[in-house]
Amino acid sequence: MPKHNKSWVKSKVIVTLVGNCRYCSAEILNTDSFVSFYPKGHAHYKCMRKADEDKTYENESKFDW
Ligand SMILES: [Zn+2]
Repeated sequence: MPKHNKSWVKSKVIVTLVGNCRYCSAEILNTDSFVSFYPKGHAHYKCMRKADEDKTYENESKFDW
């Protein structure tokens, strides 16, 4: 029984640099969860979520008058 399937092919993931995060300014790779802004700019999804939460909180306290 010939059984030399030693060359199992790893799925080829090409990692490319998307850009720098708008919030934490770290590099974003296309393997990360990220969002793009119009007309340009990118951010980690988690950074955007965090910023959104902060903004919401900020607005809430700002308009609490
Ligand atoms: Zn980030």
